[in-house]
Amino acid sequence: MSAVETIDDLFAAEGPIARALPGFEARPGQVAMARLIERGFLEQTHTIVEAGTGVGKSLAYLVPALRSGKKIVISTGTIALQEQLVTKDLPLVKQALGIEARVELLKGRNHYLCREKFDRMSAQRLVASSASMERLWAWAERTATGDRAELSFIPAAGDWEELDADADDCVGELCPRFGDCFFFRRRDAARYADVVVVNHALFFLDLAMGGGLLPPYDYVILDEAHRCERYAMAALTATLSPSGVGRVLRRLHRTYHLPASHDLQIEEIMRRLTATLAQVSGDRYPVSANDAVEPILDELREAFYKLENWLDANWIGALRRPTENPAEVERRRDLAQRGIVAHIGTIDRIVQAASAGSDADAIAWIERDDARYEINAAPFEVGDFLRATLFARTPSVVLTSATIADGTSFEFFKESLGLEEAQELVAPSPFDYPVQARLLLAPPNLNPKLANFAARAAALIEEAVDRSRGRAFVLFTSYARLNEIYGLLRERLAFPTAMQGDRPRPLLLEWFRTTPNAVLFATGTFWEGIDVAGDQLSCVIIDRLPFPSPSDPVIAARLAAIEASGRNSFESFMIPMATMRLKQGFGRLIRSKADRGLVVLLDGRALGMRYGQTIVDALPPARRIDDFRELDDFFA
Ligand code: SF4
Repeated sequence: MSAVETIDDLFAAEGPIARALPGFEARPGQVAMARLIERGFLEQTHTIVEAGTGVGKSLAYLVPALRSGKKIVISTGTIALQEQLVTKDLPLVKQALGIEARVELLKGRNHYLCREKFDRMSAQRLVASSASMERLWAWAERTATGDRAELSFIPAAGDWEELDADADDCVGELCPRFGDCFFFRRRDAARYADVVVVNHALFFLDLAMGGGLLPPYDYVILDEAHRCERYAMAALTATLSPSGVGRVLRRLHRTYHLPASHDLQIEEIMRRLTATLAQVSGDRYPVSANDAVEPILDELREAFYKLENWLDANWIGALRRPTENPAEVERRRDLAQRGIVAHIGTIDRIVQAASAGSDADAIAWIERDDARYEINAAPFEVGDFLRATLFARTPSVVLTSATIADGTSFEFFKESLGLEEAQELVAPSPFDYPVQARLLLAPPNLNPKLANFAARAAALIEEAVDRSRGRAFVLFTSYARLNEIYGLLRERLAFPTAMQGDRPRPLLLEWFRTTPNAVLFATGTFWEGIDVAGDQLSCVIIDRLPFPSPSDPVIAARLAAIEASGRNSFESFMIPMATMRLKQGFGRLIRSKADRGLVVLLDGRALGMRYGQTIVDALPPARRIDDFRELDDFFA
């Protein structure tokens, strides 16, 4: 690469990228995005780009990233994108630019095998405790990376945890396997890399922990940035669960001769907690809706204090494997204490959030699923946290996704992340939506809240699917509606049908990709992170405008906080959320210049209400049709 080459030269029709990538076509949106990001790096400003499907956003940020000569962290929301970056896009850009950049993919600690745990377990037991553990042992003997992504099977619950490189079991440089530890080897490699690729979970956890998981970096690129708020929130969420409590106790037992009385007391409290949580109906509800929870949490806190006191008195005498090394003994005590103290802190946060009333800046809620449950506490918003830990400290952060603008504005996105100043760009998709896509909106009198909705919606779905000859996703915002309409249609449709829950998600997707004319009924979660290229997916039907559910405790608390600040929560939260979600769903349909497809929105409010129009106007410019007969030639 010549030093004088500009971004325009690099992306030119005969330029280095075109030479490295056969079939490359210059796209104005891609070049504008690359130019802006480079300027952001040079001028040390943050950059937001909404890059419509097909813009080629990864090359648009990788070129300025590698040219910057700085240490860059790239964080994504999906494994698929991380793999694409590491195995395809980064090698291509390195070759095109002639830059020898070192690239590392770094995952969270619990993705890697802990050699020390494996050594200890296989020395203590002659045979593995289960069939899945036996397979894990066989893999542990031969793996060169220790990365669980290599596994061709899913280990039984708890088995992987017994062997993973979790920080709470790790004595670091005091460990006999530290020198060839899989995790630390990767972390060292990341320290010397020019580009480190990570996932959002690890990136935001590193921010929440004040660093230490990732090496220091100059700039950050957050791809799939529409997921950042969710991951930042998850990193700040404290969770109490029976499995988490069990894990602390099991770890203590692995290190110490812990008297059974502690387990018995904690288990008895957890049993009462389980029974108490079941007294209020619902899978997700605020802790404040169940007065009986807080006294039990107080008892649990006391039990953990007792455990901490026991540890203080017995951390040398009760060791299972006395060691000569006092530093290791202390490190083990610190690790054990950390788990106990973290649980006391979590209980405090839950109780505080539940009892703060209208002054609360956090919410505590219960999530139940059959016999499992979690009690969580999380802040309402992550803006202050990200402003302080990310945007104020990193000179240039790039945020990009196909869906981060509501309409043409980034205000909602910026506010939700605490980003005040950024250069902005909407790089439109190069696809010809008026030619490639059709959009049919149900008549205004078809209202999802009315009793006749299911029967009328089913008739429209039947007709749409007939027109597209199957090859359709039918997406619902609730399981109840999914079950109801699937029940009405499964015998009536002339195409192979399946419903979410029939089989695990990857198998369901595989079924859809490989079954001619398939129709998949699923909830809205199915349109995220799913890529069905070609005409196998030619129709997306959506039951209603995808507003977040106001009865969800987290959403309800958030809406109340917005109203308390004097703003209209419907306009400033519900509409932007629905807009971005609908754009994501739409984005599944057209993945290449050759794709064609139909979107049907069954919610009459899209036509009948002013806000419906606002949401629909933000979608890619598909040709609107009023009648299925207008599709006669389209699917010919
Ligand atoms: S250094 Fe930590 S993670 Fe690595 S093998 Fe030792 S105990 Fe396991």
